[in-house]
Amino acid sequence: MAPKPTNNKNKKNNPPPRQSLTRFLGSFGMGLLIFFFLIALYSLLSNNQAGGTPESLSQLAADVSKGIVSTIVVDGDNVTATYNDGTTKTTKKEAENALTTTLVNYGVKPNQLSTVNIQVQAPSGFGYWLLTFSPLILSVIFIAILVWFLTRQMRGAGMQAFTFGQSKARITHPDDKKSRVTFKDVAGAKEAKQELMEIVDFLRNPKKFLDVGAVIPKGILLMGAPGTGKTLLARAVAGEASVAFFSISGSEFVEMFVGVGASRVRDLFKMAKQASPAIIFVDEIDAVGRSRGVGMGGGNDEREQTLNQILVEMDGFEPNEKVIVMAATNRPDVLDPALLRPGRFDRRVTIDVPDRNDREEILKIHARKKPFAEDVNLRVIAERTPGFSGADLYSLMNEGAILAARENRTKVSQYDLIRAIEKVMLGPERKSHILSDQEKKITAYHEAGHAVISSVLEFADPVHKISIVSRGRAAGYVLHLPLEDRKLQSKKEFLDDIAVSLGGYVAERLLFSDLTTGPSNDLQVSTALARDMVTKYGMSSNLGPVALEGAGGRVLFGRGVEESAYSEKVAAEIDAEVRSIMTEAMTRAEKAIKTNRKLLEAIAKRLIEVETIEREEFDKILVAHGVTPKKKKDIEPQIVAA
Ligand code: ADP
Ligand code: MG
Ligand code: ZN
Repeated sequence: MAPKPTNNKNKKNNPPPRQSLTRFLGSFGMGLLIFFFLIALYSLLSNNQAGGTPESLSQLAADVSKGIVSTIVVDGDNVTATYNDGTTKTTKKEAENALTTTLVNYGVKPNQLSTVNIQVQAPSGFGYWLLTFSPLILSVIFIAILVWFLTRQMRGAGMQAFTFGQSKARITHPDDKKSRVTFKDVAGAKEAKQELMEIVDFLRNPKKFLDVGAVIPKGILLMGAPGTGKTLLARAVAGEASVAFFSISGSEFVEMFVGVGASRVRDLFKMAKQASPAIIFVDEIDAVGRSRGVGMGGGNDEREQTLNQILVEMDGFEPNEKVIVMAATNRPDVLDPALLRPGRFDRRVTIDVPDRNDREEILKIHARKKPFAEDVNLRVIAERTPGFSGADLYSLMNEGAILAARENRTKVSQYDLIRAIEKVMLGPERKSHILSDQEKKITAYHEAGHAVISSVLEFADPVHKISIVSRGRAAGYVLHLPLEDRKLQSKKEFLDDIAVSLGGYVAERLLFSDLTTGPSNDLQVSTALARDMVTKYGMSSNLGPVALEGAGGRVLFGRGVEESAYSEKVAAEIDAEVRSIMTEAMTRAEKAIKTNRKLLEAIAKRLIEVETIEREEFDKILVAHGVTPKKKKDIEPQIVAA
């Protein structure tokens, strides 16, 4: 079984802390450099004030005594003396004394002094003021630059120290035509759209509803598996109604500082009321909305406060406020009951994983801007992708286009799309991941083990393709073809599925008398399935028809979702029951493999040779060994075991 493709296109690119530190030091150094440069400039300016030949003060005093000096101009500390012959000389006077006092101290007689025309200029001019105040100005500028750099760097490093409290909602304005989404962009989900049309109607024409005294729901909860289009649908409601759309993710409420969540909520609701009519959309609300009071310590308080604030704000809505809160979650089972109470998120809209027709519609939407070759048949692609969510289909279309572009074709062909299905299901082929001969042999027998059991057990899904080209994390894989989009599964199917999962394990043990780490994922998946059979579906004959665990299952170190509703004695019984299901399935798998040993060998040998066996060839191998291939009408691959 391959891991689900993760989808992290929304991640922001914050630089890693190290890098931003060096960047910070860099710009800090830059600031220092500018500072020193300015200081140097300052001292240069202040020294080069007056022209003329420099002279000592005592020389000037002597010259004055001789009577050869005609005028002296004092400007601050600078003294410029003009001689009778027209030459000028400059000197500096002592700062604390007047020039005349100084000259007298140097022995100039008062009557000699009176022959000289002494002019004292008041300090003035731009230059003077600049010089006087520049140290002050420079330090202010320097500090300002420093603070600016600091705040910038801190924000770069992801610390919202200076903006905390403000809600971080992204706002889409109604007249923003480019990012506008409407119901036309959402395929399928007919019931959900119908339900939401009412909300759109109210936002467009509130008077009609208010006049007859109708109270429009304040909160709408969108529930559905990841990638089924909850976020998209919420945006579409805003787009249809042409109202402002405030979107924030639950985890963004609770970030770094305690107490921020609640103030962000207040902020968000205030903004929305100002922009009314508006929609507030809280994505992934389970991040703040988990049931309160059962967890352990720490950050729970913060979440609780945030949640309380949301409830308070929703209760404070006036009927004519025209602000509607939408929220989305894929874990409605863990939500706090207070959120679901009437008057809060009492409207609940479920979005299902798309069925075949919906899948075709979704594919058509994402095919809009892509040039297709003539052979493309989206219906066939839709048939082959049971269990795909809208997001998976979107990425399928994209992968198909990428494959075509890589091979320098201008049109996307059906073959590209078929290959894209497997890529989305299993991750890209890792052809460079070379298995050693022994690994290849083990993987071949492992996958052949799955394949044999799928072919001989009555309720197992037939094989569509086997491969030992590693993909994503799986070393090899077996694709199966279930008959339909299954809504209900029976106990017999589950038991056969478990046996198929164990096929790899059994084959390895039988042939190599040893085990590898290869089957670990198979074991996990099948054990979990066995456990669910016992605790959720009442399929155990010993424990009988009790659901011992809710749909949420058990969460260990996260928030305690549900306290286990059974005693330790029952827990031990569950373990025993799970073990007995697993052992029984293994016995059946062993028996199937032993009786079809030749078939197993044939498949494995062929796999080592060609690495991938498609359905037609596989069926031929089956027939050659006296096994009738299962006849199923539709071809819809699904991974059951890898
Ligand atoms: P969710 O919020 O339920 O996890 P999103 O709304 O983020 O899923 O869906 C992810 C992407 O998948 C959307 O941007 C869209 O491209 C595609 N998608 C999902 N469901 C649909 C749908 N019903 N119709 C068209 N596109 C869809
Ligand atoms: Mg979403
Ligand atoms: Zn396996």
